[in-house]
Amino acid sequence: MQRVYLDNNATTPVLPEVLDAMRPYFGERFGNASSIHHHGQEARAAVEHARESVAALLGCRVAEVVFTSGGTESDNLAIAGLAAPGDHIITSSIEHHAVLHACKHLEDTGCEATYLPVDGCGLVDPDDVRRALRPNTKLVSIMMANNETGVLQPVEEIGRIAAEADVFFHTDAVQAAGKVPLDVARIRCDALSISGHKIHAPQGVGALYVRKSTRVTPLFYGGRHERSRRAGTENVPGIVGLGKAAELAVQGFGRREDQKMSVLRDRLEQGILAQVEESGVNGDGAPRVPNTSNVYFDSIDGEPMVISLDLKGLAVSTGAACSSGALEPSHVLLAMGLRVDRARASVRFSWGKQNTSEDVEFALSLVPKTVARLRELSPVYRKAALSL
Ligand code: PLP
Repeated sequence: MQRVYLDNNATTPVLPEVLDAMRPYFGERFGNASSIHHHGQEARAAVEHARESVAALLGCRVAEVVFTSGGTESDNLAIAGLAAPGDHIITSSIEHHAVLHACKHLEDTGCEATYLPVDGCGLVDPDDVRRALRPNTKLVSIMMANNETGVLQPVEEIGRIAAEADVFFHTDAVQAAGKVPLDVARIRCDALSISGHKIHAPQGVGALYVRKSTRVTPLFYGGRHERSRRAGTENVPGIVGLGKAAELAVQGFGRREDQKMSVLRDRLEQGILAQVEESGVNGDGAPRVPNTSNVYFDSIDGEPMVISLDLKGLAVSTGAACSSGALEPSHVLLAMGLRVDRARASVRFSWGKQNTSEDVEFALSLVPKTVARLRELSPVYRKAALSL
């Protein structure tokens, strides 16, 4: 059976070059990067080489890269590490739960938080950030690209507002990395999160950029790893994989792979909209990353759609992987003002480096038929059709 994977915002396959780079560190190069002997030094050199590659992807200094266990830890380290009881945090209502729940937890421990709304395209208004500033505001945390819609936030403008107000700015760039060029100086952020498994490195590794001289309170207590910002023996194979994936991401921009990906995205969206009535793209009209399409199909439910497509070999999702199976409709789509039934009727398609134009054609051969069949079974759709 042909299988096509268009759920790369959930996770991406590890690229063969990344696996090749990692392999020795599971075997003969097994050292602990903190050991002073040959084996340790070999591991240390690999970690520092990977740090250079990640710094090149982010446009920062090598000492500003802190390796973590992934996007969730990076977000938590940035938020809990920069804000303390009594401080006010500004974030948005469409953040990943790694940010939202970290902020909620800090509220329980004496912080205040403002969750900014978004417009119908899913965009935060930078003026709302300015208006939300208070004398005790310590941190603004607004994501760069949304994981469900791919909508890109005006982070440069928000970074400028935060800098002028002398408050920290963190951006969750987990879904932006590898899809749009990153440059921490242009964004003027103090912290930026990325995750390995969204850019073809393995799951369980990530990084946080922390601007030079910015003190983050660590989440864990232990050794002096990562310049005392993240205790715990480094995940050397994972870090090597992240470094290689960062190199490949930089090379990809040189080859304009991002443009090729946006061609696939546009072909899928145009194909669907031309063939499926009462469908539309969530976040259309806003700047978006080139690999994500979030499409609503009125009068169906996203969950059975995902299952039907999976049975035919196409893997897509209804939104964030960690909320699949949740009864609640997407908090992101609801924040954009979608009706509950439309939020439930939305499906996310997301591309990776391994996908081809044949994959798009495969999706187009299945999606319109599947929607038509589900609508035939839908009492809501039949009632609407009969009343015409
Ligand atoms: N932030 C965003 C925007 C994400 O999409 C994700 C994962 O889906 C995360 C954070 C969490 O990253 P990780 O899975 O590496 O913990």
